Amino acid sequence: MKKISIIVPCFNEKENLPYLNQKLQEVFSNQPKEKYSFRIVFVNDGSADDTLLEIKELRKQFSNIDYLSFSRNFGHQQAIKAGIDCVNADAIITMDADLQHPPKLIPELIKNWEKGYEIVNSKRFDSKNQSFMKKLTSKSFYALLNKLSYVKIEPGTADFRLLDKKVIEQLRNLNEQNLFFRGVIPWLGFSQHTIDYYPDERKYGKTKYTAKKMISLAITGITSFSIKPLRISIFVGLFLSVVAIFYMLYALYIGFFTDKAIEGWTSVIVSVLFIGGLQLLMLGILGEYIGKIFIENKKRPNYIIDQIDISNENQ
Ligand code: UDP
Ligand code: MG
Repeated sequence: MKKISIIVPCFNEKENLPYLNQKLQEVFSNQPKEKYSFRIVFVNDGSADDTLLEIKELRKQFSNIDYLSFSRNFGHQQAIKAGIDCVNADAIITMDADLQHPPKLIPELIKNWEKGYEIVNSKRFDSKNQSFMKKLTSKSFYALLNKLSYVKIEPGTADFRLLDKKVIEQLRNLNEQNLFFRGVIPWLGFSQHTIDYYPDERKYGKTKYTAKKMISLAITGITSFSIKPLRISIFVGLFLSVVAIFYMLYALYIGFFTDKAIEGWTSVIVSVLFIGGLQLLMLGILGEYIGKIFIENKKRPNYIIDQIDISNENQ
């Protein structure tokens, strides 16, 4: 009998949970009972609504539901990590609570796992359901990330995937603060497979990824997989220095050999502003990396679990 756990990070997803649970239970009941035992692990990521109450309510009704609850909002990636850390299973499937990751794809993830793949990723086709902004930001993010990064990350991959026990063990050892699963998974290696799907529309509520969270995830994604931004600052710095030397020569010439030295005020202001802005940008890049070192050095836990209820079977 193989144990499969579905990990669902939830941040203010009260309305979605009963429906998701129903869909998942349907999927489970269509799988051979003698082969698999399924459990759902909800990770309440510091929701401000009654998500935790809803989870507890569902747990009363269904014996195959477990949960963790964070002391505050630690973020989607940490919620997935907590599930991976706390759950004992032969395979883990991570998926969103809002039904954008179709539960009906689960049998296909399992089928590929049975074929021998240790990681089965999913990749969404661009769908009409997605807003133009979401498509645009997602596209440009992956384009930039793949330009800058050493691991190749497929555009459209989401955190809907199956992980074998072997992979779970490796992931438990990764204790970096700013985890970015979409980068870590290709980095891990193992035999991987990707299946495509059309995302559904979010069932209830609005996206929990505000523009701020999205930018912060993008910065994490880039700075934890690449030091190219640092290198870019060196090249830009070098280029500007060369330009500045030529301009200096020109300024000296004007000063010594002509009498129109006061001219050129505009170009002075322009270049001062430009170089000033650029220096701030480069400092920002440096600061981002130094900040990362600072945070990692404190070795704080990635998340704090306030409540946990996981059945013996799953431990
Ligand atoms: N989520 C979370 N913590 C957060 C933000 C999101 O646990 O701080 C969960 C959310 O409840 C959902 C999943 O992560 O199950 C994906 O979030 P969302 O659907 O809002 O992202 P989108 O699909 O818009 O990228
Ligand atoms: Mg969503």
